[in-house]
Amino acid sequence: MTQSVSRDDFNQYFVPVYDPAKFIPDHGKGARLWDTQGREYIDFAGGIAVSGLGHAHPAMIEALTNQAQKLWHLSNAYTNEQVLTLGKKLVELTFADRVFFANSGAEANEAALKLARKAGSSINPNKTEIISFTKSFHGRTLFTVSVGGQPKYSAAFAPLPAGIQHATFNDIESVKALINENTCAVIIEPVQGEGGITPAQPEFLKELRALCDQYQAALIFDEVQTGVGRTGKLYAYMHSGVTPDILTTAKALGGGFPIGAMLATEQYGKQLVVGDHGTTYGGNPLACAVANAVLDVINDEKLLTGVAERFDYFVKKVNELNAEFAVFEEVRGQGLLIGCALKAEFAGRAKEIVTLAANEGLMCLVAGPDVVRFTPSLIIEYADIDEGMQRLGKALAQFKTA
Ligand SMILES: *Cc1c(COP(=O)(O)O)cnc(C)c1O
Repeated sequence: MTQSVSRDDFNQYFVPVYDPAKFIPDHGKGARLWDTQGREYIDFAGGIAVSGLGHAHPAMIEALTNQAQKLWHLSNAYTNEQVLTLGKKLVELTFADRVFFANSGAEANEAALKLARKAGSSINPNKTEIISFTKSFHGRTLFTVSVGGQPKYSAAFAPLPAGIQHATFNDIESVKALINENTCAVIIEPVQGEGGITPAQPEFLKELRALCDQYQAALIFDEVQTGVGRTGKLYAYMHSGVTPDILTTAKALGGGFPIGAMLATEQYGKQLVVGDHGTTYGGNPLACAVANAVLDVINDEKLLTGVAERFDYFVKKVNELNAEFAVFEEVRGQGLLIGCALKAEFAGRAKEIVTLAANEGLMCLVAGPDVVRFTPSLIIEYADIDEGMQRLGKALAQFKTA
């Protein structure tokens, strides 16, 4: 560093939309991380389900540094070998026939929603309505906060885009009450992430699929958080046997390098044509080189089985702590997308636990005010889980005496 900086500079110079932890991370390796003071942390946060391979994975470093010597950026006036490889790979590994690259989850969803609107209105000019779910999260652009089911993220920014309705998650009757010939899309997270780590019931997804078929509406799975191995399959839809028409992926796809993508069937994918949509950085060779490396490592039977095994281990460990401290009502989720929901008497206090944990050298997250969330590296060592749980225990002890 040429200039000395401190955490206080954040408060002085930054638009205060975040409240970052008091320490400043400096470097990491696997699921461990060190701050600028040299203190060590166990990382159960994983950059919010982004660092699927942990920090400084050799395959990612190699991919990025090799590509850095060759070519950084072109724009979509040109294509490149990295994006061609990644696009082909994603199509071969999933239901999809076509892919569009963006730089974030919100942008991938923006593309999916625009695509669904265009496809719908080509059938009937009023077929533009979008059904989403309460407590859902789809990103922070104006369109995606409006589609998201958390008014706290959209209310201040009215007027909002029109034609969006919210049904109740896991309640098929609430969808039946809204869906009709003018519905162009239903968008859902297979496991609601920011909303509190709530899995969709397989039967509910099946019924949604049938309703979308009946009304010629696109079924969009937002797999920005659940994708790329997070739930123990490459994509969460692979558990349910329900295949979407459009799927969005981001977070773990780049393992920490910004990238997002929208995958679609031929029927939907062909609806956007030259000039309809675009982005300067989408398909950037640096991002795609890293994503190629990440996908190659994560799309491995043994690695994915290990994710499911780690879920069981996390649940067992949290339950052991909970037997002592009795703070959680329920531990839920899928794979390494885990939510510990607080008992009603501790409602609203998840952030306190996260702060106490950080003081003990454990990084974790909230998912709403009442849920402590773990989204660690998919290959986190069991010894690191044990160490992290010991630190969580110390934090919970303090929480209980606070
Ligand atoms: C994080 C997230 C997004 C937004 O992704 P960004 O990269 O922050 O734009 C959208 N949908 C879901 C389900 C997410 O978890």
